[in-house]
Amino acid sequence: MSYNPIEENIPQALMRTQQRINEACQASDRSPNDVMLLAVSKTKPLSHVIAAYDHGQRHFGENYLQDALDKIEHCPHHNIVWHFIGAIQSNKTKTIAAKFDWVHTLDREKIALRLSQHRPTHLAPLKVLIQVNISNEDNKSGVALEQLEALVEQVSQLPNLVLCGLMCIPAAGQTESIQRHAFNKMAAARDRLNRSYPNIKQLSMGMSGDLNSAIACRSTIVRIGTDIFGAR
Ligand SMILES: *Cc1c(COP(=O)(O)O)cnc(C)c1O
Repeated sequence: MSYNPIEENIPQALMRTQQRINEACQASDRSPNDVMLLAVSKTKPLSHVIAAYDHGQRHFGENYLQDALDKIEHCPHHNIVWHFIGAIQSNKTKTIAAKFDWVHTLDREKIALRLSQHRPTHLAPLKVLIQVNISNEDNKSGVALEQLEALVEQVSQLPNLVLCGLMCIPAAGQTESIQRHAFNKMAAARDRLNRSYPNIKQLSMGMSGDLNSAIACRSTIVRIGTDIFGAR
């Protein structure tokens, strides 16, 4: 269940979230080491990020570029791993490529080309995930499952990107069985691609409301905001 911890409670909230992950893994006979917790700090102040950092959290997800930059540039901790999980405008690719370690929301070739072009060469290649519009929603970001393989082929050739896996945000307000159906389609796509592209291992799926289903369906990265930092 979701709850709204206040700032002092971030360490406890993190522990409870990790406990939820552990229990979901146990229920599916998986190792918790195979599920990364990404703390989604969008719209929250840097002090929240630091509170989580002090409790050992290292991976943080941000959606809005300016909000993210304000934190990244003022953050005293340089070993944080920053993940961009928001919609990508093409005029922002230069900044995203320079400031982030991961991008979860790649869904078209033009953006991939620009991210690769703009990735500073002194940094490791940018880790990218392709976002899939798994519930076939109109006006939703993400590539259709039918077009996924073509995009994978293009992205995997770019020199300054490493295509590590897939990401989805299933339609909201669905039953657990519909959620699982979507997540299972993602896992099947990942498995199929992994045979030709061994780097494609990650499945970024699961948020505060559907973490358990996502882990049961073999998610490897869960993106949790509300349950750690409170309601937005
Ligand atoms: C906000 C957001 C999350 C976190 O959602 P919660 O329900 O607050 O856990 C995860 N992924 C993406 C892409 C988001 O935009």
